[in-house]
Amino acid sequence: MRDKDCQVVISGAGPAGAILGLLLARAGIETKLIERHEDFSREFRGELVWPSGLEPLKQIGIWEDFEKVGQVRIDRVNMFINEKPFVSPQMDSSAIGEFRPRWISQPHFLEMLVEKASAYPNFELLRNTRVRNLVRENDSVSGVVTDTRGEVSADLVVGADGRSSIVRARSGLSARADKLPMDIIWIKVPADRVEISNTMRMYVGRGRLVIMAPTFDGFVQLGFIIRKGSFKELRQLGTKGLIQEIAKYVDASTGEALRATDTDGVRPFLLSTVADRVDSWCLPGLLLIGDAAHTMSPVGGQGVNIAIRDAVVSGNCLIPALKAPNAHDALFTAAKAIETQRLEEVKFIQAQQAKAPRFLLNQSLWMRPIFSLAQKLGRGAKFDADSDPNMKTMMFGVSPVRWVAEY
Ligand SMILES: Cc1cc2nc3c(=O)[nH]c(=O)nc-3n(C[C@H](O)[C@H](O)[C@H](O)COP(=O)(O)OP(=O)(O)OC[C@H]3O[C@@H](n4cnc5c(N)ncnc54)[C@H](O)[C@@H]3O)c2cc1C
Repeated sequence: MRDKDCQVVISGAGPAGAILGLLLARAGIETKLIERHEDFSREFRGELVWPSGLEPLKQIGIWEDFEKVGQVRIDRVNMFINEKPFVSPQMDSSAIGEFRPRWISQPHFLEMLVEKASAYPNFELLRNTRVRNLVRENDSVSGVVTDTRGEVSADLVVGADGRSSIVRARSGLSARADKLPMDIIWIKVPADRVEISNTMRMYVGRGRLVIMAPTFDGFVQLGFIIRKGSFKELRQLGTKGLIQEIAKYVDASTGEALRATDTDGVRPFLLSTVADRVDSWCLPGLLLIGDAAHTMSPVGGQGVNIAIRDAVVSGNCLIPALKAPNAHDALFTAAKAIETQRLEEVKFIQAQQAKAPRFLLNQSLWMRPIFSLAQKLGRGAKFDADSDPNMKTMMFGVSPVRWVAEY
């Protein structure tokens, strides 16, 4: 009889925790996944998934289930500079390959993952349960303390509890943060007046960035990127005034459609952006993955993709270790291997993410002619991922991720 409640306890059922939970469940590992919310619609969740996040879903054999999740395929990205059209890359199979970007419903996606995992008797999802602390025994982490279920002991604790991870905080692992000059206002508005279909739009210029994307339920998601700390004045405008403000930074016909949008029931919220990375992802008995290990900024919609990739690599490394005769030592070695395999990609993408806002939100006088010139030269140019290595890595990833564990 085991003396622990399970082999692995995971804190947080975001993309990282839910995918790892499913992979472990399928491999016969006794797994408990703890989620503080009752359902997945309570938390803000990133929604853009690139080929780098989509391909691993096929590798792990859940592509057909994923296709049934609420989503919109993005066929084109229209970029504007100073409200005028710039480039308009098509995201068709000849440019992107099989895995064309999707704007997904994360709540549906996560429900699908936990439902599949729950089909295995060795897996349990504890909803509405919050991890509060870690339990330690003989210099090793040996479980978590929860608010409603007491202690849950395990051979391995995985912190996948996102940007304000309690597991990270209680582990004592140190982190380094990037200074980000921006915050983001996130607003979902009715789409009846905005012509967007399968297109994503990005409007750059005059110190602001506006992102627009279609959602599966017929709305338009707006992201208004502003300089850090400037929300105070914008909040005073109210929802209608805020949308009028956003309308100033988009093309004329979209601006008109936004001004006419019905704002009843529309609720903007401010997301303070964070980007950081722990100095080490593991301790004996503990592993951090996803935003808990490296909080991703929203730039380029990378965090969900990176979280999926972390989970697949974690499955590859942890499953054999959990089946080894001396699991304790094997697990620490496996956790180190996960960090080694994932670090290069995370560092590279975070560096790219840090560069973009410094350039895009720059309002200095010398930036204005640069934007105008770029707009004139680039207008209508065909986009080719192969000719832009940075863009290519944002779409396809940096380090190879290949699901190998067959259990
Ligand atoms: C404004 C904004 C827009 C973004 N847009 C995109 C995008 O379009 N595409 C993209 O790829 N990325 C995007 N990102 C980044 C992305 O949201 C994250 O990188 C990604 O969600 C990380 O996944 P995760 O599984 O590590 O953590 P999370 O998705 O944060 O999941 C963590 C889970 O842990 C749970 N939890 C937290 N604390 C506890 C606790 N104590 N006990 C139990 N459960 C707990 C939470 O409820 C949550 O379900 C965006 C980020 C921001 C801020």
